[in-house]
Amino acid sequence: MKGKEKSRRPKAVAAERELIAGIRRRADQLLMGRRKSGILTLGIGDDCAVLRPRRAKEIVVTTDLSLENVHFRRDWHPPQSVGHRCLARGLSDLAAMGARPEAAFLSLALPSALTGVWMDAFFDGFMALAKRYRVPLAGGDMAKSTTVVADIVLLGSVPRGKALLRSQARAGDLIYVTGALGGSAAELRALERKPKDFVGKDKLRHPHLYPEPRLAAGRKLTRLATAAIDLSDGLSTDLAHLCQESGLTAEIDADALPVDASATLEQALHGGEDYELLFTASAKTVVPDQLGGVSVHAIGRMKKPGKGPQVQLHHRGKRSALAAGGWEHFR
Ligand SMILES: [Mg+2]
Repeated sequence: MKGKEKSRRPKAVAAERELIAGIRRRADQLLMGRRKSGILTLGIGDDCAVLRPRRAKEIVVTTDLSLENVHFRRDWHPPQSVGHRCLARGLSDLAAMGARPEAAFLSLALPSALTGVWMDAFFDGFMALAKRYRVPLAGGDMAKSTTVVADIVLLGSVPRGKALLRSQARAGDLIYVTGALGGSAAELRALERKPKDFVGKDKLRHPHLYPEPRLAAGRKLTRLATAAIDLSDGLSTDLAHLCQESGLTAEIDADALPVDASATLEQALHGGEDYELLFTASAKTVVPDQLGGVSVHAIGRMKKPGKGPQVQLHHRGKRSALAAGGWEHFR
């Protein structure tokens, strides 16, 4: 955390230093024991972080913006959830590549009034998830802003040549998803109707407020899958991305979809932000029904491109084109 110190009154600069020192203390606690296993050799405190990649590994990088009133609303989402989701989105991208998280960089802009209790709670959510997956916060920046902007950069490592790509699916591969779908969209609808019901709720089973990145499953997939993507925009949209990149089409079976108990089929097909993994594997590959502690379901098959739609849905004996209809926030 550097913090911009140009043309500021000394008092404001001192206050900002104090804020950054607080974040650094939390980040340092998180680093305990990490230096031995990870590639990060220097975290917060200098002009740059220092990483020492291993020779047999490749580094993957992902970046995500979390914007107030676009990705979350302060009257709906508790600050812990905003911090958790900001990191979870990036970790989910690493999971989709089969990567192990190595370092996080967070740039945070927010109104002065939020630098106390709100920001503390934001870091409670952020750090709890970072600790669980042993991701050191290795740097970032802070600034004042009229709304909250959290910009996260995540670095991960994968064995050389083993990163899971969207582009390597083959015709005849089976399509799988982890976990259940639509729960995030269903919880968001409930949150929209009665935000007060969610105040102070624990973190058990909140697919929207506290999604779980599927890192353990992703790493196991490097040995099983031909292609993978995480479900951030919704099954219909993300499967279309995978088809596009692999130059193939797909058919899926509505009855095979693991629809979350709280969700509709529509939410499972188009609701975003489930952060489950969608992957393909050869029909000959034995894919277990649990991976990294999460269930796995076969939902369809990849096909050569033909006259039909990019993604075809089988539902109640009928076939129809499944148009990409990903989640749009707060229309
Ligand atoms: Mg992604």
